[in-house]
Amino acid sequence: MAEPVFQTLTVIGCGLIGSSVIRAAKASGAVSRIVVADSSPAVLERVQALGLADSATADIAEAVKDADLIIFAVPVLAMGEAAKAAAAALKPGAIVSDVGSVKGAVSAALSEAVPANVFVVPGHPIAGTEQSGPDAGFAELFHGRWVILTPQKREDEPYLDAVQRLADFWRALGSNVERMDAEHHDLVLAVTSHLPHLIAYNIVGTAADLEEVTQAEVMKYSAGGFRDFTRIAASDPTMWRDIFLANREAVLEILGRFTEDLQALSRAIRWEEGDKLFELFSRTREIRRGIVAAGQESPEPNFGRDHRTP
Ligand code: NAP
Repeated sequence: MAEPVFQTLTVIGCGLIGSSVIRAAKASGAVSRIVVADSSPAVLERVQALGLADSATADIAEAVKDADLIIFAVPVLAMGEAAKAAAAALKPGAIVSDVGSVKGAVSAALSEAVPANVFVVPGHPIAGTEQSGPDAGFAELFHGRWVILTPQKREDEPYLDAVQRLADFWRALGSNVERMDAEHHDLVLAVTSHLPHLIAYNIVGTAADLEEVTQAEVMKYSAGGFRDFTRIAASDPTMWRDIFLANREAVLEILGRFTEDLQALSRAIRWEEGDKLFELFSRTREIRRGIVAAGQESPEPNFGRDHRTP
């Protein structure tokens, strides 16, 4: 086992991602001591029963007072309040990070809440499943997955050192680490993750509202495509409401582009412009082949544990 990167890690919010960070940190030896804070008594009970932490409490200030690294793993719109509750108790020099799926809004909320003598280094592991809660987490969730850090625009040595240590922590958990501007992160994720989820929520809602087709028929005759949408549309409602509200501008920008392209497809179908359809479907097939060839995806559907990218 490697040397610990941090002595005490505090995770605020011990759901799927928080508990996976803890399991991975334990398995890798990346930290010596783990403290959990969660607002839910039921979650704290499970944390105790699963033996996830050295101590667990509902009191955020109590949980962070000795921490060298604090990771906020609550829904995106809960980050600001949670950080305010931690602020006065943070140790000078501690690193404050998060795993939120939106970076612009969360970076601003964290930076505003905490004192200037701690280092704020926001982050987002591009890994997850549609499950929630402490029982859903697992130590291998981050293996081979990207973690995007969106550091502040600071060039001073102590801050760069903090960014480096956080990157070392995630690498110890098995991840690849990338640095990105928060605004750019939000645009990239709007295309790769947020829009696909919106489409899934919408298509499952549309199918459910059809009067001529029963729900039983929808499930009975759905091949992979629709089933995959129902799995994605089963993702946590609180988490996804927060993501769309917190990344409103980027999602609306991408949704506008998507709607225009959809209109063009609709016109091609109406006017029986088969060559236009064929040209697009050929182009998208090449894109998929390129992704597989680049080794980023198996050519077969993943029937095992899903590792998606919220
Ligand atoms: P989750 O399983 O629902 O866990 C969130 C936990 O935080 C719950 O135990 C929740 O308690 C607790 N909580 C909520 N508000 C709190 C507060 N103010 N103070 C303390 N605890 C609080 O959610 P998750 O899937 O782990 O997502 C956590 C974060 O990771 C989100 O920001 C999300 O955007 C990000 N993320 C998720 C995924 C994914 O695939 N799920 C992937 C990458 C990043 P209650 O149950 O009582 O609400």
